[in-house]
Amino acid sequence: MEKTSTSVWNSCLEIIKDNIPAQSFKTWFEPISALRLEGNVLTIQVPSLFFYEWLEEHYVGLLRKTVKKQLGENGRLEYNIVVEKSSNKNIPYTTNIPSNGNGAEGKRQSIPIPVALNKDIKNPFVIPGLKKLQVDPQLNQNYTFDNFIEGDCNRLARSAGYAVASKPGGTSFNPLMIYGGVGLGKTHLAQAIGNEVKRNIPDKLVIYVSCEKFCQQFVDSLKNNTINDFVNFYQAMDVIIMDDVHNFAGKDKTQDIFFHIFNHLHQSGKQIILTSDKAPKDLAGLEERLLSRFKWGLSADMQVPDLETRMAILKKKMYADGIDLPYEVVEYVANNIDNNVRELEGAMVSLLAQATLNKKEIDLNLAKSMLKNFIKNANKEISIDYIQKLVCEYFEVPVEMVKSKTRKREIVQARQISMYLAKNHTKTSLKSIGAYFGGRDHSTVIYACQTVEDLIDTDKKFKSYVQDIQKKLKMS
Ligand code: ADP
Ligand code: MG
Repeated sequence: MEKTSTSVWNSCLEIIKDNIPAQSFKTWFEPISALRLEGNVLTIQVPSLFFYEWLEEHYVGLLRKTVKKQLGENGRLEYNIVVEKSSNKNIPYTTNIPSNGNGAEGKRQSIPIPVALNKDIKNPFVIPGLKKLQVDPQLNQNYTFDNFIEGDCNRLARSAGYAVASKPGGTSFNPLMIYGGVGLGKTHLAQAIGNEVKRNIPDKLVIYVSCEKFCQQFVDSLKNNTINDFVNFYQAMDVIIMDDVHNFAGKDKTQDIFFHIFNHLHQSGKQIILTSDKAPKDLAGLEERLLSRFKWGLSADMQVPDLETRMAILKKKMYADGIDLPYEVVEYVANNIDNNVRELEGAMVSLLAQATLNKKEIDLNLAKSMLKNFIKNANKEISIDYIQKLVCEYFEVPVEMVKSKTRKREIVQARQISMYLAKNHTKTSLKSIGAYFGGRDHSTVIYACQTVEDLIDTDKKFKSYVQDIQKKLKMS
């Protein structure tokens, strides 16, 4: 019986079917059709470039073996790729690419075929009535640059974010990876970039998606056999913002898909913005090739904001809500909740609720009694920022001075007392204490503590200063 493309391909499929999971077969092989057989070259048609890449990456060995089995040692496989074109939707254009599996392992060419937008692209966010490709970016409009307070803690990330928002895909910050602990403003900043892009250029296709949601959508698309739509959708974006990529850990298949989408977008000069709770080098459970791409652009960290920034954040929020709070209350809250902006806001909201509920004025006393419940750890640690502030207020010197190199007597005194109190009232290491004082080393801190102890023993006036300040510290 004479071989036809269909008979050869069907024989291949039988072998393939026995060698891979049923779901994979359904996803990746059923949509393929045999196109032609010329001599020993079998051409198969695949629905998209992405399909081709996926097959070549995951199944090239299997394909090669089965094709050779059917067509002999010189058997070759070629792909015909359907590229949908929006302008000419009835005539899909196709392109032929030989499989890399033919003999020598050639270097994978990257094929710059744009995935053209087509009104048939399905949006996994399911927005009914899509006509032209209009995509709800899934952004929270409240997260803007305007209400994102800048501080030392976030300066690099913020300015890189701003640069990216002004020129998506056009800076070397691609991807832009924003990383840091919980509640420090990563989501806010990432969304602010998206909102800013939309504000500048409303036509840009921007999508915000949490990594978790993306993983879920991928699983759904496998189930519903809509993987192509899923990939096409993301590959059509101009800006993708993926939140919390640490959640990719352990999800190898989804990482693979994202790897392809990432490559496609990056090659086409589209902007990728990622957030993560850790620096790329510390992310566990992610594939090396994906991690290495995450390191391509810029990784910018977000640190815990200092007291001044925390107060500014609180004031801005209060102002936005039309609430006026006494300065000392803002200061007290910012002083006592010093590791997380989200908790800071939470405390403020509880305080407002308490005041409304009990029809009380918001004052320092209410703040104190409320925060007692709020801060689980009643014996909470006093922060070095706060110590510096108290000491400097006491001696009426500017806080910056204790961090400076100045050797002026009264500054040295304030600096040494602050170091001494930091050592005795916080769990901070000597090295870190030094860092709070303009990057001095730990021996300087030891020397300061020694000096203060000596002076307490020999100088009554000095001793009373230190006792006064300690009293204030305990009151807070
Ligand atoms: P993350 O994603 O890092 O866990 P979020 O972006 O959700 O943190 O931030 C938590 C809350 O803190 C949000 O309400 C956010 O608006 C607020 N926030 C964090 N940093 C800032 C900042 N620099 N300026 C204003 N608000 C901030
Ligand atoms: Mg977040």
